[in-house]
Amino acid sequence: MYAQVIVDIVHENVAHTFTYAVPEGMALSVGQRVEVPFGFRSKEGVVIALDERCDLPPEKVRPVTAPLEDYPAILPCLIDLARQMAEESHCPLAETLRLMLPAEMRGGRVQVKQQPVCRLAIPTGQVEEAMGQLGRSQKKRMLLQLLRDGEKHPVGEMRLVVREPLEPLRQLAEAGLIRLWQEEVLRQPGGSDPVEPVEDPPLTPSQREVLEVMAPSLQRGEGRFLLHGVTGSGKTEVFIRLVRSTLEMGRSAMILVPEIALTPQMVRWFRARFGAVAAVIHSRLSAGERFDEWRRIRRGDARVVIGARSAVFAPAERLGLIVVDEEHETTYLSDRHPRYDARDVAAWRCEREGATLLLASATPSILSFARARRGDYTLLEMPHRVLNRPLPEVEVVDMRRELEQGNRSVFSGALMARLRDCVAQGQQAMLLMNRRGYHSFVSCRSCGHVMKCPNCDVALTYHLAGGDGKLHCHYCGHAEPTPETCPKCASRYIRFFGAGTQKVEEELKKLFPGETVVRMDNDTTSGKDGHARLLDQFRSGQARLLVGTQMIAKGLDFPRVTLVGVVAADMTLNLPDYRARERTFQLLTQVAGRAGRGELPGHVVIQTYKPEDETILAAAAQDYRSFFEQEFARRRSGLYPPFTVLARLLVESDSPLAAQQHARALHERCQALLAAHPAWKKRTLMMRLDQPSVAMLRGKTRWHVMFKLLVHPETEAFAAALSELAREAAPRVETWFEYNPTTMM
Ligand code: ADP
Ligand code: ZN
Ligand code: ZN
Repeated sequence: MYAQVIVDIVHENVAHTFTYAVPEGMALSVGQRVEVPFGFRSKEGVVIALDERCDLPPEKVRPVTAPLEDYPAILPCLIDLARQMAEESHCPLAETLRLMLPAEMRGGRVQVKQQPVCRLAIPTGQVEEAMGQLGRSQKKRMLLQLLRDGEKHPVGEMRLVVREPLEPLRQLAEAGLIRLWQEEVLRQPGGSDPVEPVEDPPLTPSQREVLEVMAPSLQRGEGRFLLHGVTGSGKTEVFIRLVRSTLEMGRSAMILVPEIALTPQMVRWFRARFGAVAAVIHSRLSAGERFDEWRRIRRGDARVVIGARSAVFAPAERLGLIVVDEEHETTYLSDRHPRYDARDVAAWRCEREGATLLLASATPSILSFARARRGDYTLLEMPHRVLNRPLPEVEVVDMRRELEQGNRSVFSGALMARLRDCVAQGQQAMLLMNRRGYHSFVSCRSCGHVMKCPNCDVALTYHLAGGDGKLHCHYCGHAEPTPETCPKCASRYIRFFGAGTQKVEEELKKLFPGETVVRMDNDTTSGKDGHARLLDQFRSGQARLLVGTQMIAKGLDFPRVTLVGVVAADMTLNLPDYRARERTFQLLTQVAGRAGRGELPGHVVIQTYKPEDETILAAAAQDYRSFFEQEFARRRSGLYPPFTVLARLLVESDSPLAAQQHARALHERCQALLAAHPAWKKRTLMMRLDQPSVAMLRGKTRWHVMFKLLVHPETEAFAAALSELAREAAPRVETWFEYNPTTMM
């Protein structure tokens, strides 16, 4: 027998498989990891095929050293997935295969944890007699006594009663009275805190309807659905019922969430309903925990997988359902290499493994909703909150008027009054302040005018670090001086938009000296339990005021929150990104959805310098449809995705000169490519060499060649060629090809 092995080295020259002989008596299957000789060293690899014969001369074929596990670590369908991803993203199979394993498994950095256990080896009826024959050994008699129930006991348990029990246990085992062996133990994250099992609530009419529509597809293992359900419509309960049906059919289910740390409640609900069959995978697990959860899934002990993006590669067999919750979140796109979109991978697995796909959101992405409208997905809707709870009332406050009236605080009069009421009545409030670190736009505080690119209709940005003092557009490269006065109203109140969460926290503390204010942003939530600690403080009611960035907008369910304030809606609206409107609508709708989820109705205050903006108005009306129509038309006329593809070659180097020179060389080669391929040139709407707005990152200078391409099969071929260019090694520089990246910064 011969094994085709992908050796775990990512290098251009090792992009193909190697043939090894399978020694007599070694049983191997496809997907199994093996140790193989490679040059003068030993390497890990994955068996991707087994053949009876081999065309190579026998002296050229070396034998497999040993299998690394006694089971195939990678399921056959995941090998196919890796193959397809490697092909599509033009990268070596070794690289995509890595996605299918917990990182720590490679190089043996994590081991199976074992503990000694023992059990009686004689009938319980004979224990008395055996004890009589043990002579004077007090310890052995006690041990036999402990084991006389005939059950399996960890040796650790014996230690509570008998000091150093291992030696006497060994002697008992030698005498044939007990069995003593090593057994695997699983490190189970959070498994120690028991969750109360919960009764099913009766379903609401729209929950029941959605489940009825999906039931036949679920039974047949097919169907692609998009669930548009307003915030608080009870989507989680729908997922729970679908998962239950899937388990009843003997199949497994997967729930993808944007980020586990931000959805602790979802995890708690699933644990409460499904207990030990649920496995939770996320980045904050220890290496050992992640490995053990992965093995529980691999062995079929855990048949419900809950996890963020990378959980889509979990080795669940007989998959019947994949749910992607909050499907509009950009966290489903991996921007590390190899790049992938977890929603596409989910769709691929469903298709391949005969499972049902459900994408869900209160604010579906433009792309997914457009697909649903085209008939690629079946659209399901839950337009009302559970138990007839009303959607929150939304009030838009014009911050230009506040300035006119002499209010320079970050809070409008209306928001301040609402905050006072809320605190006085012992209720809770959440304040959103979405500040991005790297760049800043310029706007007029008198008239709300924002400095925009004349070519692109996106905000111009001022480069905070290492800039030239000008305003830049990083879609087309346009640059202009920063104005002293507003070009529209001549006011001198034109300036950078600056305040962040910290400023809001300070002002809140000034307004409510006695209150505890919880602040959640990237600075306060680092560490293993950073999120959980802060959220618990708010959940317990110990703190009544929560300030945070977009991380507070997602999935949280606090019944006592009656007020939500959006301190500066313009912050997201003016992000220099063609998706700024989509992000704004999502963010405002999601954060507004945190208000009034309990018995008490909610109120939302949106502060903005642009109260007439149609995206803000649609968000205030919580009207997804009208937002979708506006935005879809805007994308079409502006030639943005999904009508076009944005892409770039990104170059980074610790040498500014090397970065610039390499980017320039790439740009020239791209021009040559276009000259040689008229079909590609025809589909290229824009190609330019520039520095991204984040011109330096982690000490490296960055340059990019940006592209806007028409959606067309030729574009795929061009993209493949660009990706090849990026893979060529060059001294001192690193190059990436990005296809519809989440950001062009
Ligand atoms: P969504 O994800 O759609 O915003 P959730 O799933 O978080 O909504 O549900 C909102 C709230 O409604 C939760 O507190 C949940 O426990 C509750 N809920 C869901 N379904 C029902 C039901 N059928 N009856 C009563 N309460 C429900
Ligand atoms: Zn102005
Ligand atoms: Zn522009």
